[in-house]
Amino acid sequence: MTRKAKEERQKAVEVVCPKCRQTQIVYFPKETMPVCQYCRIEMVLKEILTEGKYG
Ligand SMILES: [Zn+2]
Repeated sequence: MTRKAKEERQKAVEVVCPKCRQTQIVYFPKETMPVCQYCRIEMVLKEILTEGKYG
C-alpha cells in the first residue's frame, strides 16, 4: 500500500487572461484563480498540465 506522507495532491494548471492572453501557471488547490495583473480581471483555465507527476 502506497501512501504519500502529508502531501496534498496538487495540479499544475495553466490559466490565461481572456483579454490580453497573458498566461500563468498556478497550483490547485493550494492557489486560487489569479487575477490578471494588467487587466484586473479573473483569469480562466486554459490547460491542466500535470497530475502529481512527482513522486
Ligand atoms: Zn489581462
